[in-house]
Amino acid sequence: MLVENKPDWSGRWSHLQKLLMRSGPLAHQDFEPGSQVLEFMLESAKILVIGAGGLGCELLKDLALSGFRNIDVIDMDTIDVSNLNRQFLFRPKDIGREKAVVAAEFVNSRVAGCNVTPHFKKIQDYDADFYRGFHLIVCGLDSIVARRWINGMVLSLLEYDEDGTLDQTSVIPVVDGGTEGFKGNARVIIPGLTACIECTLDLYPPQVNFPLCTIAHTPRLPEHCVEYAKVLVWPQEHPFGEGVPVDGDDPAHVQWIYDKAKERADSFNIQGVTYRLTQEMLLDFLETEDSCIDVDTIIVKMKKFDCLKINVMGSDQYTLTNIVFKDDCAACSQRPQVLTFPEDVTLKSVIDFLMETPSYQLKAPGLTTMINGKNKTLYMQSVKSIEERTRENLPKRLKDIGLVDGQEIVVADATTPKPLIVKIHFSSDME
Ligand SMILES: [Zn+2]
Repeated sequence: MLVENKPDWSGRWSHLQKLLMRSGPLAHQDFEPGSQVLEFMLESAKILVIGAGGLGCELLKDLALSGFRNIDVIDMDTIDVSNLNRQFLFRPKDIGREKAVVAAEFVNSRVAGCNVTPHFKKIQDYDADFYRGFHLIVCGLDSIVARRWINGMVLSLLEYDEDGTLDQTSVIPVVDGGTEGFKGNARVIIPGLTACIECTLDLYPPQVNFPLCTIAHTPRLPEHCVEYAKVLVWPQEHPFGEGVPVDGDDPAHVQWIYDKAKERADSFNIQGVTYRLTQEMLLDFLETEDSCIDVDTIIVKMKKFDCLKINVMGSDQYTLTNIVFKDDCAACSQRPQVLTFPEDVTLKSVIDFLMETPSYQLKAPGLTTMINGKNKTLYMQSVKSIEERTRENLPKRLKDIGLVDGQEIVVADATTPKPLIVKIHFSSDME
């Protein structure tokens, strides 16, 4: 069937028709084959691709050639010469231009009838109304924080009836992919129906988040030296021009950071700074082979499977993994987060807990609560003036700040568009 006024030629979609006109052993039980599926793909389906980098270029090309015509792409980066070896929608003449814009131009010019709309933006620049406009979101991201943010966004769009039944029209599935070198993984998240990113957060490697004073004055680990070169030396010496951020994809940048980190390590007699470690720390890298093995081990112990994840390690090796809901997931369980601390716990210990616990891994949490009917900011790192004003609270005991047993704290963080509500309990039995 051809759609009117579109540059479709006879047989253009015949390969797709083979898949869409009949069912198959791998098709979902609710799949209804028929010409209406292709019509929907060509005419109505709106897809959002997040990231126009290594994975994003591939995604855009594949989606466009598969018959999706209404595609939006978001990316906040511009094209660098080091991208050209694999980000095949870009040419040397495009260096310095916006990835999203160039990728959209390229696909629109090559695939007749396809309409890719670029957004040279951060995902955080758009609100719920924007994301609600898509049938499907496909992620080719290189950052765990961004993944978590998008995960929080699609969860916040879910609507429930009065009796608590999920309104399935509010569900926007997310296909999440990630690569590291020749390894890759992909998984499908159907918000509210399958495990979300936060359900399995402890499978990601712990974040690299070191206290600045340690990095600056008392390094002990090779990671401290790499962080020193990246956070303190780079902005002072700006080796590749003022304001140029460190790019983990650029070998010259990695080499520069590595050399500085090695120098630092030598002067403190610290072993273990390598080029590989430097690169991994700069890339906000994804999941390592170790974590693939962890997933398998954990999953073997699980009985209930509800979500599939595929890890590819090289050209002919892959693992399939079922991922399960976490009962008390901070993002999707709809359960309040209840934390119990010793009675004399300090604000700093609570913040450290939220940053270091594998199932939270917050980046720079800002905490507010109601005290005597007034909203009080306990600590906020992201705004300098508020940080200076609230820093004195850090060593204080929660009780001395005025918090009571069962108090709710609102925690804002870069990893989520919606604040986390945490209920604090005090226990006299705890050490
Ligand atoms: Zn979850």
